[in-house]
Amino acid sequence: MTFEALGLHASILKALTEAGYTNPTPVQEQSIPAALEGRDLLVSSQTGSGKTAAFMLPTLHKLASVEQPAGIPRTPNQQAQSARSRGERPRFKPAQPKVLVLTPTRELALQVTTATDKYGAHMRRVRTVSILGGMPYPKQMQLLAKNPEILVATPGRLIDHMESGKINFSELQMLVLDEADRMLDMGFIDDIEKIVEATPETRQTMLFSATLDGVVGNMARRITRDPLTIQI
Ligand code: AMP
Repeated sequence: MTFEALGLHASILKALTEAGYTNPTPVQEQSIPAALEGRDLLVSSQTGSGKTAAFMLPTLHKLASVEQPAGIPRTPNQQAQSARSRGERPRFKPAQPKVLVLTPTRELALQVTTATDKYGAHMRRVRTVSILGGMPYPKQMQLLAKNPEILVATPGRLIDHMESGKINFSELQMLVLDEADRMLDMGFIDDIEKIVEATPETRQTMLFSATLDGVVGNMARRITRDPLTIQI
């Protein structure tokens, strides 16, 4: 099996070649085709299995395949500028990400962001922003004002931004929960439920976890539709 045979976008294949990846790992081989078909996934896999690319490559492929409409101001700053040119007072527009990845820790969020930048290096316009506890709010607001397509976040800080109206999930297409069992161990269940509730039911959902038993399995089934279960 090759990445080309999985049907990924040429810009992504180029980035994978540069990263020195020749073949998909087992979790990638099983997850990517189903994710590209739009299936929800419940994946039991360990760190080091290549799970980040298993969810990020099909996600980037979907973003690469959708042409942005021409002539419509896309970032909140552009919208504010055109409002000014019409003599209106600009308003702060919330970020409307298309993809949200939730992770238990800052470190994992930063790893996912770095990997996403690497896999998306040749795509025309994909911005990824990490929303993390402990990072100064003004800096994060500046990043959100650019209306990134992808947010990678720890749940607590994301809730703060949602509640202050800085993020709106009405355009969300893809929700990923990475290391879901660890997020539950860390007490994030209420935050996760609140975040999921704020996203459209039409979203695609992928959940990765060391185990799919017990509490995490219950939550996984509540937030997915007809999921494909993959055990590595
Ligand atoms: P992860 O499980 O996502 O943390 O990935 C573990 C490591 O494997 C990371 O350093 C990735 O860059 C690397 N990796 C992921 N997929 C592949 C692949 N198909 N071929 C070679 N290395 C990979």
